[in-house]
Amino acid sequence: MSQKLADFHDFFSQHKEPAFRSKQVCEWIWKKHARSFRAMSNIPSSLRSLLDAHFYFEPLRIEQLDASTDLTTKVVFLAQDDQRFEGVLIPAGNRVTACISSQVGCPLGCKFCATGLLGFRRNLMSHEIYDQVILLDRMAQEQLKKKLSNIVIMGMGEPLLNDEEVIKAIRKWCDPEGAAISPQRITLSTVGIPEGIRRLASAHVKIQLAVSLHSASQHKRETIIPAAKKFTLLALSEALEAYYRLTRQRIVVEYLMLKDVNDSIQDARELAAFCKRFPVKINLIEYNRVDKTGFERSSDEKMEAFAAFLKRLNMVVNIRKSRGEDIAAACGQLALRNKKT
Ligand code: SF4
Repeated sequence: MSQKLADFHDFFSQHKEPAFRSKQVCEWIWKKHARSFRAMSNIPSSLRSLLDAHFYFEPLRIEQLDASTDLTTKVVFLAQDDQRFEGVLIPAGNRVTACISSQVGCPLGCKFCATGLLGFRRNLMSHEIYDQVILLDRMAQEQLKKKLSNIVIMGMGEPLLNDEEVIKAIRKWCDPEGAAISPQRITLSTVGIPEGIRRLASAHVKIQLAVSLHSASQHKRETIIPAAKKFTLLALSEALEAYYRLTRQRIVVEYLMLKDVNDSIQDARELAAFCKRFPVKINLIEYNRVDKTGFERSSDEKMEAFAAFLKRLNMVVNIRKSRGEDIAAACGQLALRNKKT
């Protein structure tokens, strides 16, 4: 849907239409996912023509689907300007999660990440972010006979470099007039942009914040995440402390386990020290190999020893296995493989 449709309320009052009409139109767009005014059967035809003359739809299209043996499905979305970006539908037990993108490509170039190798094209608009969820929810209902249970903003791009549009989409997902999704079921994952974390806290959207830390040593982190030179661990830890003070929400720390890079007990000790200033849940993530990065997955023994060390310090730790690796849909693998971009 076009940005120009973002707020009908002023338009309706200017044209002396009753407020309930605006609510009806919003319901058609956000709840029933109508993509033309013609479809809005309870709206008078004169009003539909007026809306047609003033607003337009810019629907996302699904260009390609790849299904994994574990039922994970990767989707290539096509925007109106022919830019492509990816989302993933991940069923696991009773949960069905949509992993969605916030940018086309990414400017941060993390060394382990396939999206980073693509470079940056543009920010996604709020309606393009919103619509990924609506399309993936429709797919979940058709293919799995289940509704989406969770959203993770963890696909292509750094959401806190596009937080204005991302927050607009979050508000719309959570709006009772929109998709009415609980904010507790939404996770935004950032590489750690301190100012963006503070803005997110002030936005009071009450979603879960996840930080891709991957190392608690400043020097080592810079070799994995070049942007860490600018966004230092000290600034990140101060921003996370401020985030917790304002939201009282536990922070999820994502830690990709890279063989002989960040998987020693000394690395675990540094991670525990970093996490002292705010409550955390730590996810240790299996690395999904990406060509040209040179990184390898840590062994199961190393991951278990790392987790055991943290658990002895009474920290909440989970080991997260890969999903959708065979279709390059796993964490850090979204790179429009086989696509002309
Ligand atoms: S890990 Fe995230 S922030 Fe880093 S390059 Fe990939 S998409 Fe961008």
